[in-house]
Amino acid sequence: MDLELPGEDHPKRPAIRAWFEAHPRPSGRDLAQAGFVVPHWPTPWGLAADAEVQLIVDQEMKRAGVSPPRNPVAVNNCAQSLLTHGTEAHRERFLWPALAGEEIWCMLFSEPSGGSDLGALRTVARRDGDHYVVKGHKIWTSLAHKATVGILVARTQPDLPKHQGLSQFLLDMDSPGITIRPIIDMSAHENEYNEVFLDEVRIPADRLLGKEGEGWALSMTQLQTERVALSRPGAIWGHGPSARELVEGLAEIGALDDGALRDEAAQIYVEGEILRLLAYRALSDRMNARTPGPEGAIHKMLAAPHGQRVVELAKRAQGPRGMTAGERPFPSQLGDGTDPYDDWDHAFWFSPAVTLGVGTQEILKNVVAERVLGLPRDVDPTARTPWSETKR
Ligand SMILES: Cc1cc2nc3c(=O)[nH]c(=O)nc-3n(C[C@H](O)[C@H](O)[C@H](O)COP(=O)(O)OP(=O)(O)OC[C@H]3O[C@@H](n4cnc5c(N)ncnc54)[C@H](O)[C@@H]3O)c2cc1C
Repeated sequence: MDLELPGEDHPKRPAIRAWFEAHPRPSGRDLAQAGFVVPHWPTPWGLAADAEVQLIVDQEMKRAGVSPPRNPVAVNNCAQSLLTHGTEAHRERFLWPALAGEEIWCMLFSEPSGGSDLGALRTVARRDGDHYVVKGHKIWTSLAHKATVGILVARTQPDLPKHQGLSQFLLDMDSPGITIRPIIDMSAHENEYNEVFLDEVRIPADRLLGKEGEGWALSMTQLQTERVALSRPGAIWGHGPSARELVEGLAEIGALDDGALRDEAAQIYVEGEILRLLAYRALSDRMNARTPGPEGAIHKMLAAPHGQRVVELAKRAQGPRGMTAGERPFPSQLGDGTDPYDDWDHAFWFSPAVTLGVGTQEILKNVVAERVLGLPRDVDPTARTPWSETKR
């Protein structure tokens, strides 16, 4: 690992700092148009920034107390595909409102028949003149209830093997035939996910993203896209409280006087530091223009159960008080309300989901086994058969 974080004297820093001083309360649009929402993208949306400049933008935004617009599906996963596979009309219509956080996006991938085997999805988009007509059922769609744009994966060519017959669409979420049903989870906060029923939904053919049959490749790229960020040690997918904050909080309430609990806290702290170093290794690869290695899968595989242990120990240290909704374990640690996971209680109730979403533990272990350890690939007997002939 050879990593030198950009210093205070980095030549690109003064202009970025000056922008935030001149715009103390920027809107999402201001941030997007300044290129600060996706600095790694080309202009005019980004700054064509290398990893160092991306980190400077992150640092200066934090220093100024500014939060970027929250539109995770667009910004972290899907919108970048419009640069490579979208038309000029797609970019014109969708990118600025997405980057400014004015139009929320959702990702319509998983189905009740299974999310890990995305290639087996059953939602069908049939061509009918200058439209596609979609019939199917999606599940676990985060933010569908707020989204105006959905990135939909559907089967356009059922006679091809399962991975080859998929296509992606930019779907208006208020189209006739769409029903959104919330799934209320045990965190008791606003619903996080939804079921989405698509009943003869008509999508104009020019909303196809890329070509017919490119849906699998696009989806894989979108699920693996990760922005360069300074090591994010938060327990919930990098957000929210970290192991360091856990130990500080436990010390604050005197819980470390208990030897057994102190021992557990020490183990969690060490795990947190190992994860921090793994994240720096990935960052070092990017800053030295090396293709990121398999650390991504290893990091996710270790970080998810670690996050669950962080929030579980905080809850346990509260004793019976932890049973009351909204009780905070450590009085001095309150978020600023912009990130729901900064709330320890919410982070605890949400945490079981982190070992499932964006690839389950078993799927990540398969990635590590096949790509890191070189073990034989998981056998999929249906991979080469036309989808229309496979048993379902
Ligand atoms: C917080 C959260 C947010 C989500 N947001 C979205 C979203 O916005 N859009 C969306 O489309 N989806 C979303 N999902 C769904 C998510 O992608 C799926 O839950 C995930 O892909 C797993 O699919 P599944 O739940 O259908 O489980 P399955 O795929 O049915 O898996 C069931 C079990 O079998 C195991 N398994 C499956 N295949 C294998 C294999 N080959 N080898 C070994 N074990 C295997 C799995 O690990 C799991 O334990 C979200 C999920 C969560 C938890």
